[in-house]
Order: sequence, then structure tokens, then C-alpha cells
Amino acid sequence: MATLTLREVSKIYAGNVRAVSGVNAEIADGEFVVLVGPSGCGKSTLLRMIAGLEEISDGEINIDNRVVNHVHAKDRDIAFVFQNYALYPHMTVAENMAFGLKMRNFAKDEIAKRVGEAAEILGLTPYLNRKPGALSGGQRQRVAVGRAIVRQPKLFLFDEPLSNLDAKMRVTMRAELIKLHKQLKASKMPATVVYVTHDQVEAMSMGDRLVVMKDGVVQQVGAPLEIYNHPANQFVAGFIGSPPMNFLNAELQQRGDSSFVVGKGFELKLPRRFNGNNRPVVFGIRPEDIHERGDRVSTASG
Ligand code: ADP
Repeated sequence: MATLTLREVSKIYAGNVRAVSGVNAEIADGEFVVLVGPSGCGKSTLLRMIAGLEEISDGEINIDNRVVNHVHAKDRDIAFVFQNYALYPHMTVAENMAFGLKMRNFAKDEIAKRVGEAAEILGLTPYLNRKPGALSGGQRQRVAVGRAIVRQPKLFLFDEPLSNLDAKMRVTMRAELIKLHKQLKASKMPATVVYVTHDQVEAMSMGDRLVVMKDGVVQQVGAPLEIYNHPANQFVAGFIGSPPMNFLNAELQQRGDSSFVVGKGFELKLPRRFNGNNRPVVFGIRPEDIHERGDRVSTASG
């Protein structure tokens, strides 16, 4: 369990490729935060910098109020679950989960205890003696998570861990990971999680908070519904939500005391907070807010 603070963290690759620009974030102990954005927006680079697998070009990364910029990856007490979570095929589930602890010379009793506890939490107890080849994709994924849990790390980092699974298994695993996070919170091992995905549905359904990124720059940080109901800009409005928000070019017009948004074939009265005259604007409306006459209208909160 740990807090994680990012201050003005940037990454410039050779050739002046600016992958991450001035990212600031404070992640609380036990929080599940999702970094989300389209492919190439810098999510993996940011995660790898937190892990210590990538040098940072500028800024500061703090774990539990300790600057770790120059701390080696293996000394950051972090567990990293990748997309390609290679399990050792010739080892059983129990051996796969125990491997990292063995390498760190943990006592046999302690290894057995931790593997037993993790297997219990993950529902893997009946499979401890099986080899990965005899497991489903979801079970293998759970073993990969188990390998991370037994180390009792300060911080869990996940990089698109579900993208190799089929759609149905992905939905199941999302729910399982959320349940697991809750269980760890209720137990003595609350886990701080940073989870990377390009899939906004996954982000919305999993994160306590989301960090939405584009072109290496953070666009908005907030709880899923806060972002959905109050997107900070047009990019966030269009990226979060499925099917996406519709955008129409329009103009703001002021008539007497009232403001209107006027577009091709439509004119809508606006709340007072809008002002300016003959100003070009973009009018956005979510598909679920469009109804046929006679439809029952349910209003979104917020
Ligand atoms: P994401 O995880 O959001 O898909 P990445 O962090 O992988 O994005 O990449 C961010 C940007 O940095 C991309 O433009 C990518 O091409 C570039 N990039 C990633 N790794 C390297 C590298 N080793 N050298 C140069 N450019 C890189």
C-alpha cells in the first residue's frame, strides 16, 4: 500500500518525440486509478516510468513521499502485470506464483502461506497443482495477478492486462479485478493500483478515478461519472461514452436577455451562464439524451 505522486513528469524520446508532457497526479493509498486515452497517447510510457523501466526526462515521481527517480525498478516494491503475462509452462500454478518469492529467498513456510492466501482470494486453490496449459485464459490471468499479489507490493501497475482475452472473458475479468481490489482493501493488504487501458468502457467500469490523456498531456482527472457528466473539453466529451457524443457546429447568439445556440435547422435556448454573441461553438449531445416524442424521458443526474 502506498501513495503515488507525479510532479511535472515528462518523457522525451530520442528524435525529440515528446511522449509524456508535464503530468501531475496524486494517487491515494488503496485507490484504483485508470490511465486512459487513445493508442500512442503516452499511457504505457508513463506507467513504465512509474515502474522504473523507463528513465524520466523531467519531473519527479514520489512513492510514499520518497523521490524514486533514481531508484532501480527492482527496489521500488512494485508489481507489474503486462498484457503478455508469460507464465512458466513447465511449472504448476503454485510454482508460478511462488517463483518471485523463491528468487528473493523467502522462507518455504512464508511462501506456502502467501501462495495459499492468494490462491484463496483468486479462487485458484483447486488448480494449484495444474500447469498453465490446462487452464482457461481467465484462470491464467488470475495466476499472473496471483504472482503479483504474493509479493505484497506497495503498488500494482497493470498495462492492458485484459486485451488478450475474448470479449466475454474480459468482462468477467474486469469484475474479478474490481472484486479483488475490494477484497484486498477489506483485508490487511489494500492495494494502490494504476491501470492502463485504451478502452474507455473498461476505464469507466473499473476506476475509482480516471486520468484521461491525449498526445502525452493529461486532459482531465476525476471520478468516472464526474468526467462523463462534466467533460473538461471536446476531446474528453467525445472519447468518454459509447456510442460517442454527437457534435454539431453552431453559433452562440444573444437576443435581449436570452442566449441561444443556433445551428443548421435548430435553435435552442441556453441557460444564462452562456454569453457572447455571434461566437462559433460546438454543440454536443449524447445519443441517450435524444428521444422520440412520447418516449419516457429519464434525466441524467449532474
Ligand atoms: P500508449 O501506451 O498510450 O499507446 P506509448 O506510451 O506506447 O503510448 O507511446 C507514446 C508515444 O511515444 C508514441 O508516439 C510512441 O510512438 C512513442 N514511443 C514509445 N516508445 C518509444 C521509444 N522507445 N522510442 C521512441 N518513441 C517511442
